[in-house]
Amino acid sequence: MAGGQSLIPLMKFRLAAPKYLVDINGVSSLDYIRETGNFLAIGTLTRHHTIERSELIRQKLGLFAETASWIGDPQVRNNGTIGGSLVHSDPAGDWGSSIIATRALLKVKNKKKERTLDSDHFFSDTFTSEVAPDELLTEIRVPIPPDGGRSAGAYEKLERKAGDFATVGVAVQLTLSRDRRTFEQVGIGFASLGPTNLRGKKAEEALVGKSVSTSSIEDAGLAAIEDVNPSNDALRGSAEYKRAMARVFLKRALKRAVTSAGATGV
Ligand SMILES: Cc1cc2nc3c(=O)[nH]c(=O)nc-3n(C[C@H](O)[C@H](O)[C@H](O)COP(=O)(O)OP(=O)(O)OC[C@H]3O[C@@H](n4cnc5c(N)ncnc54)[C@H](O)[C@@H]3O)c2cc1C
Repeated sequence: MAGGQSLIPLMKFRLAAPKYLVDINGVSSLDYIRETGNFLAIGTLTRHHTIERSELIRQKLGLFAETASWIGDPQVRNNGTIGGSLVHSDPAGDWGSSIIATRALLKVKNKKKERTLDSDHFFSDTFTSEVAPDELLTEIRVPIPPDGGRSAGAYEKLERKAGDFATVGVAVQLTLSRDRRTFEQVGIGFASLGPTNLRGKKAEEALVGKSVSTSSIEDAGLAAIEDVNPSNDALRGSAEYKRAMARVFLKRALKRAVTSAGATGV
């Protein structure tokens, strides 16, 4: 148990009944945010709120501060941890889309060895990650985006009411060329748009190397419809509606990110 924000509800509903419960909250060495070479290293036990308020995160990785601010309510953000959220692997989880957009690496360890997973191979199925029962996720390593004000991120989330899980969540992390006219690098991750968090591969391909314009952003929005695989759900809407919202929210995130990265006229 980390923050208990998913595990305790699962136990209350009798969906989980562990024989032993190991509380890792006392392991303070798993709670940190630091710059390590070209990465920001975030310890698994770091609370959503700590990430939201971290000066280092705000300076180097605004997307993560934004993502954290969208999670649940203040109680959930004060208790819940990034690692617990990722291992819980809810396809509606906000962190999953942002680790995909930033191409983060996940360090996982058992008694004998440590291994590193990439964000495209972390989620194996709904509520299932590649972390084995005898392993701990220990660290999330996020490549620091190229500097100089030409990199930016944005998180856009459609929710029924404040604090709800995403009906649609879109994370974008991009870098523009030095003259701010071309998309150099683009990462797009989605929440609530498939059986796991997933990458907007076709949408990324529609942008990389293309000029920054309303029409390239429009193309990416259309490509996103092919990237996603949402399900009909009685609470949050039909698959058709979610596909349409994926397009709208991706375009919003892209427009905000390119503007933050210094592009004009979009
Ligand atoms: C009311 C409410 C609203 C919420 N809204 C949102 C939302 O809008 N967006 C969103 O993304 N999330 C939301 N959440 C979920 C929240 O983000 C949880 O904090 C998160 O899903 C679980 O993190 P935790 O630290 O509480 O993990 P826990 O509940 O303690 O653990 C979750 C699972 O991960 C395992 N685990 C934990 N840490 C590790 C580790 N280091 N290594 C291996 N296994 C580990 C546990 O064994 C357990 O199976 C909400 C939760 C609630 C209760």
